[in-house]
Amino acid sequence: MINRDELLERFTRYVKIYTTSDEESTTFPSTSRQFDLAKILVAELKAMGLKEVELDEFGYVYARVPSNVEKSVPPVGFIAHMDTAPAEGGENVKPQVVRNYDGGDIQLPGDPGVVISPKENPILKELVGNDLITTDGTTLLGADDKAGVAEIMTAAAYMVAHPEFKHGEICIAFTPDEEVGRGVDHFDVKKFGAGFAYTLDGGRLGELEDETFCADGAEVICKGINVHPGYAKDKMVNAIRMAGLFMTLLDEKTLPETTEKRENYYHATGIKGMENETVINMIVRSFTVDGLKDREKDLERVRQQVLEKFPRGEIEIVIKEQYRNMKEVLDQHPEIMETARKAFEKAGITPIHKPIRGGTDGSRLTFMGVPTPNVFAGSINMHSKKEFASLQTMEKSAEIILHIASVLVEA
Ligand SMILES: [Zn+2]
Repeated sequence: MINRDELLERFTRYVKIYTTSDEESTTFPSTSRQFDLAKILVAELKAMGLKEVELDEFGYVYARVPSNVEKSVPPVGFIAHMDTAPAEGGENVKPQVVRNYDGGDIQLPGDPGVVISPKENPILKELVGNDLITTDGTTLLGADDKAGVAEIMTAAAYMVAHPEFKHGEICIAFTPDEEVGRGVDHFDVKKFGAGFAYTLDGGRLGELEDETFCADGAEVICKGINVHPGYAKDKMVNAIRMAGLFMTLLDEKTLPETTEKRENYYHATGIKGMENETVINMIVRSFTVDGLKDREKDLERVRQQVLEKFPRGEIEIVIKEQYRNMKEVLDQHPEIMETARKAFEKAGITPIHKPIRGGTDGSRLTFMGVPTPNVFAGSINMHSKKEFASLQTMEKSAEIILHIASVLVEA
């Protein structure tokens, strides 16, 4: 169904466009270079003949493939993000195509030190004979999530070129700034037009994800009393020392480096301060809200203990909700995962269900009224110079889009 060459052509073209997002930025999108890809996508969607193609001021691309059936079919959405992770360089990406992969080490031409080996990547054993796309070893690839973008574009092109392929209304969105956690900050649910959707983002063949973390941010503000150090006896309360003790008293069993699978954690991501005030930025993660509250209660325990040692100091903990586990909403709409499962079955793929120890654009969209599980897009070793993608996996991912459309028409 999917034209593999067309998919590869799109993908290798998109990854060369520099779209790294920027955590530090206060603008939206965080980097204006994301418009470079957005504009290309808009031009291509229009050239395909899609309806209501729009690029808004925030850098979101929206488009629709109109229904070609009489009966009423619920509009379905497909979403991928255009930015790449700031953790690794994303400029001058030089994709390399390894045809008919032989199972050995893949030496990347731009840096003799960067080798993708089956020893480090057992998944490579499953990809022998596939066509793999890697970088030259000096940047990330950006298959996260330009694989998703290319898959949606190629599936849309197929639908337009094959009027005999029956489908309801297909709503497409490409988002900026997913990698800096702001991917849906300005997402226009109304303009998008679908009551439910699927993100095509992330990993290996078969991944189908309806469960993400619940996430809060916690700001721990330690307030001390600053006095000239020469005259500080019995007067000074050093907030830096309060923060140091706070970190020491955290439960070592609930940190990212000591937890996995369904376990909760809290984690310090930054610290900044002076004697009078020191702020620790933390994140709290759990698959349940109760788990979040449990970790936050433990932060309160640490707060009390620090204050026992520094009775004249003050500590304020400010909790901010970030996103919630989409599963609690998706469980109320079982037909959305059921549709995906049927589509996987049509594609001959056994779904792999694994809770994501992270979030997606879908986790927040789900709570904005558009339940959105995630389907594999094919990126392996995301955010790294060793990132790669299998063209055959990407092809399957694009096929899933068409199968989802078919399942909905047949329902
Ligand atoms: Zn992604």
